[in-house]
Amino acid sequence: MNNSFYLQEKNGVITLKCRAFDEIEGLRYGFSTRHGGVSPGDYASMSFSYQKESEEIVDENFRLFCAANGLPFESLVLTHQTHTNHVAAVDEAYKNRGRDRTLRETDGVVTAAAGLGLICFTADCVPILMVEPEARVVAAVHAGWRGTVRSIAAEAVSKMVALGADPQKILAAIGPSIGPCHFEVGAEVQAEFTARFGEALPYQKSNREGHSMVDLWAANRLVLQEAGVLKEHIFTAKICTFCNNSDYYSHRYTNGRRGSLIGAIAMEE
Ligand SMILES: [Zn+2]
Repeated sequence: MNNSFYLQEKNGVITLKCRAFDEIEGLRYGFSTRHGGVSPGDYASMSFSYQKESEEIVDENFRLFCAANGLPFESLVLTHQTHTNHVAAVDEAYKNRGRDRTLRETDGVVTAAAGLGLICFTADCVPILMVEPEARVVAAVHAGWRGTVRSIAAEAVSKMVALGADPQKILAAIGPSIGPCHFEVGAEVQAEFTARFGEALPYQKSNREGHSMVDLWAANRLVLQEAGVLKEHIFTAKICTFCNNSDYYSHRYTNGRRGSLIGAIAMEE
């Protein structure tokens, strides 16, 4: 783990935190781990997938996670992620709707409304939380490899700017996700990365013929920097979900038999 991050334990709920975010007055946020929830079996214990478990169990995990991190359980905005680069801006109208799940084909969400919690789901894909402390604008982004190549992090920055954010003041935290040690891709996917990033993104050779290892963290840092976010404002947890599958859900490690992690962020009212 990078030393700009640490683990917080509260009532059994273990949350990954970013030190730079802690310095912002009224900011509530966190990256979940597998620890502190009520999910059984393959999903143990803190999964947030309504597709895989009952509403009761997932709601209880949300309730526990929100209580441990000061997040607004009754005003959360969730997205139906489909590897697009669509980012939605949401406002006060989304408050007090419980766990709102009406946003379709959306992989990122931004808001300037205090008291509204934004959620992104991952299990190997890259979760990115962002905040602009002066404009009080926040973002939660799901960047899989497709979203990364399609620059979803830059789309989120541009939606934040539309709400008054200055890119040079944005802080970004890149959470637990599959690392360059385990994100192996075939030639077709490699070609998409090469087309998008050129020589700016280095690749490691894989042991498998015709495959290579891609660094999604570095790719997303490039996307953010292109969008005007300062290098020193981008914090990468450097936690590989595959390597650390007992603490984080990994889609590849489990061949899909896994729960979902969240990144969550809100400005306090
Ligand atoms: Zn790894």
